[in-house]
Amino acid sequence: MKPLMQGKKGLICGVANDHSLAWGIAKELASHGAELAFTYASEPFKKRVIPLSESLGSSLVFPCDVTEEGAIERVFQDLSHSWETLDFVVHAVAFSNKEELRGDFIQTSRENFLNTMLISCYSFIETLKHGSAFMNPGGSFLTLSYFGSEKVVPHYNVMGVAKAALETSVRYAAEDLGKKGIRVNTLSCGSIKTLAASGIGDFRYILQWSQNNAPLRRNITLEDVGKSALYLLSDLSSGVTGETHHVDAGYNIVGMKAKDAPDIVLEKTNQ
Ligand code: NAD
Repeated sequence: MKPLMQGKKGLICGVANDHSLAWGIAKELASHGAELAFTYASEPFKKRVIPLSESLGSSLVFPCDVTEEGAIERVFQDLSHSWETLDFVVHAVAFSNKEELRGDFIQTSRENFLNTMLISCYSFIETLKHGSAFMNPGGSFLTLSYFGSEKVVPHYNVMGVAKAALETSVRYAAEDLGKKGIRVNTLSCGSIKTLAASGIGDFRYILQWSQNNAPLRRNITLEDVGKSALYLLSDLSSGVTGETHHVDAGYNIVGMKAKDAPDIVLEKTNQ
């Protein structure tokens, strides 16, 4: 049988290191035959992303700080010198000041609200706009979200609002790009310890809580994320668009603490 992603080319945005969700996705796609290109946010990330991309046989690595006007458009133009067309794009980019990922949501500053929305939501809209010009019919865009967009999760604050906007953007974009046969979906992932996640207050408590209360009684892994992304980026999901698909060990369906869930001691340092 032909590997699922054989002959498909795609751009991965958001690898910071080998703990990144984007890296879990990249490895899974490469193992199914995909050809990959990568972006990195700034110079300190370059030295990590280049060896990782090389380990998957890719030499196409581009700088892209999404706060810089024109940066996303430039990536697709640069990529077009090597590839005429694309089959998928993964957007795994988010940021908010960690001082505002704790405490009261209503204390969110204007500056951090705008910056969080720009990096975590608008950058995906720009990616869709410029990337779709190179996308083959049947192509697929994927962005990453979190349950904090749907329900209140302690400390997720302004990032929850940005993820809600991101998921709604996915639905509107699915309508726009569906006419070209291009699909747009969100993967709503359970909690995993990464660089971005370590900025969220009481993150270890969140990890412990979801492990105790998710129907599968565990947290998800990078492999779980990679396999769900493979589904949404391959022809296996050819009839699926505008969807928010949960890969969270079932946590989003739960309405109450599990009867067998042990108590968790909250660490004082992070409250
Ligand atoms: P990560 O820190 O590995 O990845 C976040 C990426 O965002 C990094 O590569 C970083 O360089 C990039 N980024 C930040 N600011 C940027 C900018 N100005 N320009 C370009 N790139 C920028 O952490 P992660 O957890 O793998 O995050 C990837 C995505 O997954 C994010 O959208 C995050 O919200 C989402 N997510 C994470 C979890 C989790 O528990 N880790 C759960 C659900 C969703």
